[in-house]
Amino acid sequence: MMIEPPVNAVHLDGRLEQLPISNEFAGLPEAFYTRLSPTPLPAPYLVAVSAAAARLIGLDPEQARRDEFVETFTGNRVLPQSTPLAAVYSGHQFGVWAGQLGDGRAILLGETPANIDAAPQRLELQLKGAGATPYSRMGDGRAVLRSSIREFLCSEAMAALGIPTTRALCITGSDQMVMREMPETTAVATRMAPSFVRFGSFEHWYYKGRTEELRVLADHVIERCYPHLREAARPYQALLSEVAQRTARMIAQWQAVGFMHGVMNTDNMSILGITLDYGPFGFMEAFDAHHICNHTDSQGRYAYNVQPQVGHWNCYALGQAMLPLIGEVDDVHEALATYQTEYTAAFDAAMHAKLGLATREEQDGKLFDELFAVMQKSRADFTLFFRRLGDLRIDDPAGDAPIRDLFIDRAAFDAWALQYRSRLRREASQDDQRHEQMHRVNPKYVLRNYLAQVAIEKAQDRDFSEIARLLAVLEHPYDEQAGNEHYAAPAPDWASHLEVSCSS
Ligand code: AMP
Ligand code: MG
Repeated sequence: MMIEPPVNAVHLDGRLEQLPISNEFAGLPEAFYTRLSPTPLPAPYLVAVSAAAARLIGLDPEQARRDEFVETFTGNRVLPQSTPLAAVYSGHQFGVWAGQLGDGRAILLGETPANIDAAPQRLELQLKGAGATPYSRMGDGRAVLRSSIREFLCSEAMAALGIPTTRALCITGSDQMVMREMPETTAVATRMAPSFVRFGSFEHWYYKGRTEELRVLADHVIERCYPHLREAARPYQALLSEVAQRTARMIAQWQAVGFMHGVMNTDNMSILGITLDYGPFGFMEAFDAHHICNHTDSQGRYAYNVQPQVGHWNCYALGQAMLPLIGEVDDVHEALATYQTEYTAAFDAAMHAKLGLATREEQDGKLFDELFAVMQKSRADFTLFFRRLGDLRIDDPAGDAPIRDLFIDRAAFDAWALQYRSRLRREASQDDQRHEQMHRVNPKYVLRNYLAQVAIEKAQDRDFSEIARLLAVLEHPYDEQAGNEHYAAPAPDWASHLEVSCSS
């Protein structure tokens, strides 16, 4: 493993002991959380570490080899300045008010300075699966190795795709078993984000009728994550508006890479507009606009094509919760109206980039719709299609074979390609330049379910090497990566019936 110097100036030598920990969230009134220590796990071991995530907080990735690191990020050992706590929140689950939820198995250790895009920030560190809390309800407070690997890999993959997300520092495992559909071993994933506050954190106080707590929470979020809104004429309305816009942009990015979250409950919606709580997520493979990635979601509430509307619905739930702060219903509506505008603009821009179009034409929306219809009819592989489309040469239709091969109805593709070519000609598009631009936005490598499954099955046999290999591939999703092409292949037959559910 290459050791690169830590980027973080505040951090002296990259050692765990030097990690400065504080906890701003612990400064909120006690009603917001319960202080408690993680519950230790027997004989933990390192399963995976993200060197990139470690470097974000100035931690030398080599530290992960140390027992102290494993003990710390399993929750067996608490760093001296750490004030661990579990936060309370509520939420709407599958459209229904679910009442109080909370960190049922997540424990916030505190926060540490981080260098993100060279801008100093603070990242909270949270252990997921570190034992029961007062908010565990019927749960055991644990996470299984399988779901922890999925969350770890997808967080880091999304970050590399350029999509706002929580990060994952590491996974530790233990041979301790917990019961799901069958007994499975447990793991702890360490997540990082500027804040883990959710839409449901606001709903919690709204439904209790506690406007003062609502205000304290909103002020905390503004202070910490939206400091530029402090001076706004109406800061709470501005906050809602900005959250709606960030959420819209995030979901437009999900749609553009075919990412499906699977459980867009309001307790899983980040107040920062970052992807949060990876469970039964999926990346679109054979294109079906109505695809449901979560086996538990029998109604398709969170199907791929519904995600943008659900995002809007969730923002309404947040708007409702913020009404006592904002005051006027019309002002709430005004803030929420930004969602649709922002989503449409962001998705439209993403589609233009995906097709390598530099200009706008009135009929472009129709071109996109027709493409999705053709893909739908042939169940074309989403990732492979957009990637290969970048290889198209305007004056060489015969060279389309690798793209055409993705379609059962080749004539339908040819008809669409004819329109696409004339569209490209109208803006005098240059093949090589367009190819390069398209490859920068259409990833070659995404976390297909079967790839995660291979890594999981090996890990369940105590071989963690595939997680590291897959992580290395997913960290460079837009690169060709000679020798790794098989990671771009569609699911083999054995994986065609893989199902993921809320069980985690
Ligand atoms: P999720 O569907 O994973 O977003 O979880 C919804 C709620 O259930 C959250 O409050 C979680 O903390 C809680 N939860 C999920 N699994 C467990 C578990 N095994 N033990 C305790 N709480 C859990
Ligand atoms: Mg959740």
